Amino acid sequence: MKSNTELPSSLMWKAIVTCDKRYDGKFFYAVRTTGIFCRPSCKSKTPNYENIRFFDNALKAKQQGFRPCKRCQPEQSADIYEPKQEIVEETIAFLEQSYKEKISLNILAFHIAVSPYYLSRIFKEKLGVSPLQYLERIRIQKAQNLLLDTSHTCTEICFQVGYKNISSFYKHFKKISHCSPSQFRDKCGGKM
Ligand SMILES: [Zn+2]
Repeated sequence: MKSNTELPSSLMWKAIVTCDKRYDGKFFYAVRTTGIFCRPSCKSKTPNYENIRFFDNALKAKQQGFRPCKRCQPEQSADIYEPKQEIVEETIAFLEQSYKEKISLNILAFHIAVSPYYLSRIFKEKLGVSPLQYLERIRIQKAQNLLLDTSHTCTEICFQVGYKNISSFYKHFKKISHCSPSQFRDKCGGKM
């Protein structure tokens, strides 16, 4: 048994034997005889103590030539891997890039490859708004920048940031900026 971690081996061994989930992400163990590494909570057969090597992260185990266990998927460590956060970030990146296009919740969910319901739910959970509300924020922010940095008319800007009609542009602009686009331009000293 060789250790590359700060934790006492007896403690790690106990965690492995009891499949203790609390140690997931804190260390990994590899088994010399099988060439596979696991997280402490893995339900696979407890290996012989003398065949074990401990690692403090999955990368080190891989660098030593061990393969991740298919059962416990140790590379997706409990406290590093956050699928919800990843989905939210991917969605934001997509919205930032495609805000000029026509986007519905269905289109968005299809692109991210999750269900519309699930996407809405985790978005609200993480950011407190729906994906489409977030899209409006991006569009209005872009519109504010254009109002200040360019001399484009409000109507031009409306279409430049992805709105299909001027009334919904005004409605969303007012809701987020608490004034009309032209008032915003006056107030903040943009180009006329
Ligand atoms: Zn495993």
